Amino acid sequence: SPFKDLGVPEDMIRGLEELAITKPTEVQLKVIPFLLQNGGDLIAQAQTGTGKTAAFGLPLLSKMNPKHRDIQGLVLAPTRELAKQIGKQLFRFTKYTEKIFVEVLTGGDDMDRQIDNLRRPTHIVVATPGRLLDLIERDALTLEFVRYVVLDEADEMLSMGFKPQLLDILKLAAMRRSTWLFSATFPDAIQQLIKGCMSAQAHNIQ
Ligand code: AMP
Repeated sequence: SPFKDLGVPEDMIRGLEELAITKPTEVQLKVIPFLLQNGGDLIAQAQTGTGKTAAFGLPLLSKMNPKHRDIQGLVLAPTRELAKQIGKQLFRFTKYTEKIFVEVLTGGDDMDRQIDNLRRPTHIVVATPGRLLDLIERDALTLEFVRYVVLDEADEMLSMGFKPQLLDILKLAAMRRSTWLFSATFPDAIQQLIKGCMSAQAHNIQ
């Protein structure tokens, strides 16, 4: 399998095959080996529908330690629809792997239910910024042990006015080892976010 050549674990490839994902897309070819081998900060230009979820999702899932019950990975997305789609894909990729628990936290869903769900072990949280901060304020979760943060559709998050929330969240994930930013466009606002929150050595992929 070409995904094996990129370094994707065998048990994840089995899940991919069931989804008819057998040939990596362009963004997957560029992003997956970098994230698996290097794992530093990444800035990638990618549109929706290009397979970007698997591009960050497969490396993110393979970096999780299922034996620890802490939240180790965080994916932020601009809308609840996108967050739910990402959550669903991550769940499917792990059909044949050791259990990795993914929780989707978005506005519009019942908060008490989300608080209850977070009492279970959770390895990856996929969230919209506002609801995530609400839940943190209620002590429903901590970002203390988060090592990887993915900002998906970062330009959309900024257009929607989420910049203060993004900055707060990144500050709370103070121990994170790397930040992976995906964006379709790179206006000034994104450049500023990159300058303020990411390593100057971040790897760029177009
Ligand atoms: P995304 O751009 O991540 O929203 O993915 C768009 C759609 O393409 C999703 O339904 C994926 O399951 C699918 N997909 C992702 N990677 C591949 C691939 N390498 N081959 C075929 N389909 C894919």
